Amino acid sequence: MSEQLILEPTPLNAVDRCDRCGAQAYVRATLLNGGELLFCAHHAKQYAEGLKPVVAAIQDETSKLTATASISSEDE
Ligand SMILES: [Zn+2]
Repeated sequence: MSEQLILEPTPLNAVDRCDRCGAQAYVRATLLNGGELLFCAHHAKQYAEGLKPVVAAIQDETSKLTATASISSEDE
């Protein structure tokens, strides 16, 4: 039961957390080996380049983040 056919990605929601900092995740990276990584907008940007060689698909929902325009403590 380890095989998955990803036809329709599940939308990210509040229980999905960034693997790096624990903030709410807005990007899901599906890896070539079938694994999955979740990132907040901040870390998605930070790791985008490094992940390219191993990523099969990126589900980017950061537009949700900008749509709500909540001010966070992200340093930018
Ligand atoms: Zn993060």
